[in-house]
Amino acid sequence: MQEIIMLKYGELSTKKANINFFLKTLKNNINKKLKDYNCNVLYDKGRMYVTNIDSNIDEIIEKLQTIFGIHELVVGYSYNELDFNKIKDIVLELVNTKAFNTFKVQTKRSNKKYPLDSMEISRSVGAHLLKNISNIKVDVHNPDLLINLEIHKDSVVVYFDTYKGIGGYPVGTLGKGLLMLSGGIDSPVAGYLAIKRGVNIHALYFESPPHTSIEAKNKVIELARKLANYNNGIVHLHVINFTNIQEEIYKKAPNDYLITLMRRCMYRISEGVLKRINGQILINGESIGQVASQTLTSMNCINKVVSTPVIRPVACFDKNEIIDIAKKIDTYEISILPFEDCCTIFVPEHPVINPSEEKCIEYEKLYDYESMVKECIFNHEIIKVEETKENKFEDLL
Ligand code: ATP
Ligand code: MG
Repeated sequence: MQEIIMLKYGELSTKKANINFFLKTLKNNINKKLKDYNCNVLYDKGRMYVTNIDSNIDEIIEKLQTIFGIHELVVGYSYNELDFNKIKDIVLELVNTKAFNTFKVQTKRSNKKYPLDSMEISRSVGAHLLKNISNIKVDVHNPDLLINLEIHKDSVVVYFDTYKGIGGYPVGTLGKGLLMLSGGIDSPVAGYLAIKRGVNIHALYFESPPHTSIEAKNKVIELARKLANYNNGIVHLHVINFTNIQEEIYKKAPNDYLITLMRRCMYRISEGVLKRINGQILINGESIGQVASQTLTSMNCINKVVSTPVIRPVACFDKNEIIDIAKKIDTYEISILPFEDCCTIFVPEHPVINPSEEKCIEYEKLYDYESMVKECIFNHEIIKVEETKENKFEDLL
């Protein structure tokens, strides 16, 4: 007998033609995550298995619960045994260690050549338990103990406890995206949701030293580190020095258009960096109506400067819904640290709510944005932010 962890794919199993690509990627992602542990990862079309585990199984489960593509995990006991009388005794022995009054046996049979069908197996194992353990009875609706059996080609797996996985698609199966990552609450959540759909992300942060501080930058690094936890252990953070552009716009363009013009440059730079990393989509934390630059007219006017799809995973979420996810993924406490962001300095008193594209084009003739944008795209710092076990952000408090 050996203790194994069995992983269920959920949504993945609907990928018919290219299921193998999804499963291979999932296996590679699991191997990366469990590189410090002694175990093997095997799979077939129905399940993935972590076997030969000779280290802390709870720790491994916790790690597996940060991997997209796994919908449910179970800790099971695998026996190289198909003799039905022996299987009945195996179940009896395992069940004898548990306290319960009611139970149900549920069987899945991937081995279709097995002489008994699933119903017969469940019924017969149930009868064996009733005969050998006193004061128990069957309850098919709400049992204290659910006994699961899976009959495979040359083994049987018995399991009781199930753990929730985080679902989604394996990271990397859907290509690459660039997340515009600020120090706010929304963009880390947007990043998490994009990774969940199988997108491998890079992140990009605009800083404006000396108007923004090193603490503000460190905060974004720590947010990227939280995301690295889900993004195969690493996030490349592109740090763009935005000071020149911001000061030029501040000096030369009307104050109420400051944010709109600034964001048009942010989009242009982001698209340029995205092309350099061979990515397909931009991702950001915009949410409809949240601030002046996120009215539909504003979004339209800003979005016009790029041709790349811009995915806004939290566009239709209430702030409270976004905060709930931020807490779940542990970014909230970092996001609420009080350091100035480049959007929060130079904020006009009355930003335009319905900006016109024609005016933007007129104002953009007042400064040479093209060369500044180019400089940012081709000349910037890239930090490889790796996941870590310790909670480094406490240093910032
Ligand atoms: P909050 O959670 O407070 O709303 P925010 O980061 O969402 O913070 P917004 O001004 O609403 O701030 O910006 C909208 C989006 O634009 C952000 O979610 C982020 O994707 C992007 N963005 C804003 N500022 C920056 C920045 N300094 N660097 C990178 N991306 C930024
Ligand atoms: Mg926001």
